[in-house]
Amino acid sequence: MIHIRPQDKVFVLTGSGVSAESGIPTFRGVGGLWRNYRIEEVASPDAWAQDPALVWDFYSMRRSVAARAKPNPAHLALADLEKRLADRLFLCTQNVDNLHEQAGSRHVLHMHGELFKSRCDTCRRSPFPDDSSYEGPAQIPRCQCGGKIRPHICWFGEVPYELDRIFAALRHCTVFAAVGTSGVVEPAASFVAQVRGRARTYYVGPEEPVNASDFDQCFQAKAGKILPTLFALA
Ligand code: NAD
Repeated sequence: MIHIRPQDKVFVLTGSGVSAESGIPTFRGVGGLWRNYRIEEVASPDAWAQDPALVWDFYSMRRSVAARAKPNPAHLALADLEKRLADRLFLCTQNVDNLHEQAGSRHVLHMHGELFKSRCDTCRRSPFPDDSSYEGPAQIPRCQCGGKIRPHICWFGEVPYELDRIFAALRHCTVFAAVGTSGVVEPAASFVAQVRGRARTYYVGPEEPVNASDFDQCFQAKAGKILPTLFALA
């Protein structure tokens, strides 16, 4: 159990494992491959430059999987935690699905973007809601400026979003909990090392992450099983 005191500020980092029980596979869960492509090869600026139709095929598939998914008890527990802690909770997700929002979380920082948004690859038009599928080269949507519309996703090799807000929250947190993230993808994998020694640090997931030694305690179980009873507020 994680005891939260009245003065605590809690930073929760979620990864793809939190959505696994909702039927959205983790990258490791599918062997890191899609149609025999390594996922890094279809989720990168180079892939977009060389074959945008292939990239949209991949994200259209991911949209259709995510559109069928429903939040699981882990998402619901974190939405409930927000109700109890209000702005003492900072929820940062590496996930691009919207299951935290579907569960009722109102303040979610999507550091790797959002699957159901798109943006122009050329102009500074803001990202906009988009749940369409674009399959085949003829279907690549165009912006009024002439640029191509791309998924609003932080690809491998790009800089995650809103790092200033994330680092500010890391500086202030006294409790850090990572859920369902293997500790491989940077910079999220290093967040725990930044707060270690100053904040109490916890991990939740069925396997030890590669950065397990940075956590004070690892709860080795599925997120949906453990999160509903994990946090005790003083
Ligand atoms: P990862 O695939 O590297 O690791 C997933 C982790 O989840 C593993 O450590 C695994 O043990 C754990 N896990 C599996 N089932 C779990 C469960 N029921 N409860 C808790 N943990 C469970 O994923 P990552 O560390 O998030 O990093 C990879 C990247 O994949 C991220 O950038 C993320 O954006 C992206 N991604 C997102 C989604 C999504 O939006 N749902 C899906 C796949 C990948």
